[in-house]
Amino acid sequence: MFDWAAEIFDPILIDPPRPVGFEGGLNREHFFAVLNGDRDGQQATFDLSSVKSLGDIVRSCSAVISVNAQLRLYVDEWLNTGVSGDGVEVPATRDLTRAPNACAAVRVFTARTQLLLWPVREGVVFVLPTESGPKQDSIAELPIVVANRLFCLFLLCDWRVRLAKCRWPGCGLYFELKHWNRAYKRGILCPECRRGRSLASAVRSTADARDVAEKKLYRLAARRFRSRLVKGPSWQDDPTFRTKLIDFLNSRIKASDNLNTAYPHGITSKWLSWAKNRDAIEEAAKGTSNAKG
Ligand SMILES: [Zn+2]
Repeated sequence: MFDWAAEIFDPILIDPPRPVGFEGGLNREHFFAVLNGDRDGQQATFDLSSVKSLGDIVRSCSAVISVNAQLRLYVDEWLNTGVSGDGVEVPATRDLTRAPNACAAVRVFTARTQLLLWPVREGVVFVLPTESGPKQDSIAELPIVVANRLFCLFLLCDWRVRLAKCRWPGCGLYFELKHWNRAYKRGILCPECRRGRSLASAVRSTADARDVAEKKLYRLAARRFRSRLVKGPSWQDDPTFRTKLIDFLNSRIKASDNLNTAYPHGITSKWLSWAKNRDAIEEAAKGTSNAKG
């Protein structure tokens, strides 16, 4: 009785298309050359209103802008959909549909391009435009047309998930990410900036370790020679006591891995003659003496 209903509600089965292959496509090196090209130039960045205020309106194609900057506009917009408000970058959460200019590039490209099927022995191949590098004697095209094509061909590549932009201020290099399926707490950095940062933090931690070691020396001296340090006459003018103090600290440096790392050659009388160290030792002695009542 309700046979007609089946016709309405049964999903229509469609065999997924399987062309024999593809022809044309994108040269990866060329893509990165365009994307990274002229990043220091006047059109390095393109100020874009926020996606919200922009709505469905996208940048007019009549504005004169370089292919590089136009392509970066699409790529940045898309890459930024994977960055949350607190700066955490998760490439797997990128969403092309939340990048209006990037979506417009796809629409305009497909509307203008004849995507061709070409017969071969086994069936048909899908013929895509080719972007393998700068062509000579080619017809001058609007930068936006070239950028749209580059961006769409890029979206057809399976390595698109690995595209990243270095978030280090002043760098902004585009490169292929080794580990795209993870969260980057402080944003993605290119290999060079990552090395620079770990070097900076190594320098910082060496300085920290030295600071800790220094304070430890003050405490050791204060604890061992408290009474002599807080009482006059001035211990600083007593060469015998100074030698005793230095010998003691050097023996402790030799006995401790941490101290030894910070002071591999031990300390000398010069170290003790620095006002900073002398004052800190006295300060520590007074502190220890007060603490112990
Ligand atoms: Zn970088």
